[in-house]
Amino acid sequence: MPKELEKLINAITYLPWIWEKSATKLAFFLLNSNQNFNENLSESIKNIKTKVSFCKNCFSLCDLWQDFCNICKDEDRDKQTIAVVEEYLDMMMIEESGIFKWNYHILGWAISPINWVFIWDLRFKELFERIQNADWKVEIILATNPNIEWEATSSYIIEEIEKRKLKYKTKITKLSRWLSSGYLEYADNITLVNALKERKEV
Ligand SMILES: [Zn+2]
Repeated sequence: MPKELEKLINAITYLPWIWEKSATKLAFFLLNSNQNFNENLSESIKNIKTKVSFCKNCFSLCDLWQDFCNICKDEDRDKQTIAVVEEYLDMMMIEESGIFKWNYHILGWAISPINWVFIWDLRFKELFERIQNADWKVEIILATNPNIEWEATSSYIIEEIEKRKLKYKTKITKLSRWLSSGYLEYADNITLVNALKERKEV
C-alpha cells in the first residue's frame, strides 16, 4: 500500500466513531474523489481551529471576528433565563426544538475528577459573574440529564449561587424527568421539549 494512503487511513482511524474498515473505505473515497472536494475539505479542517472562536458571554461558538454569538446579540431573547449546558451540542439540541428563546451558558464539561476535569477547568466564574451582574431576576436551568458528574456540577452551582449576595434571588430549576437515552443529544424532540417545559425548582 502507498505510504500516503496508509498515513491517511491511520489518521482517519483516530477519529471517534470510526472503525478501521470504515477508515479504509473513507480513505479510498477520498482517493477517488474530485480534487476540489478534497481541497475544500482540508481547508475546512484547517480553518476549524483558526477561524472559530468562543462567544465572550456564553462560550458558544462563533466566527473569529465576532465577540458575541448570534444568540447573545439577539435582543428578542429572554435574558432572564439562562440554560446551563455542558457543551455546544446540548445547546443546539434545545435550539433545534424551536420552542425556547433562552440564553445559554456553556460550561465546557461537567466536574469529573476521574477524567481530570475539575472546577477550575469549567466556566463557572463567568456564569456567576453573569448572575451577579444581572439587573433582573434570573432563572438558571440546569439543562442536562442527571448523572454522577452532572449531580456534582449542579450541587456546586447551587451552593455557589446560594453563597452570593445577589440583588434578586436566583431561581434554579432542573429537568423534571430523566431522558431515557441518558443524554440531551439523543433524546427525541417531544421528550426533550417536555422535560425542559416541566422543569422543577431545586
Ligand atoms: Zn453567546
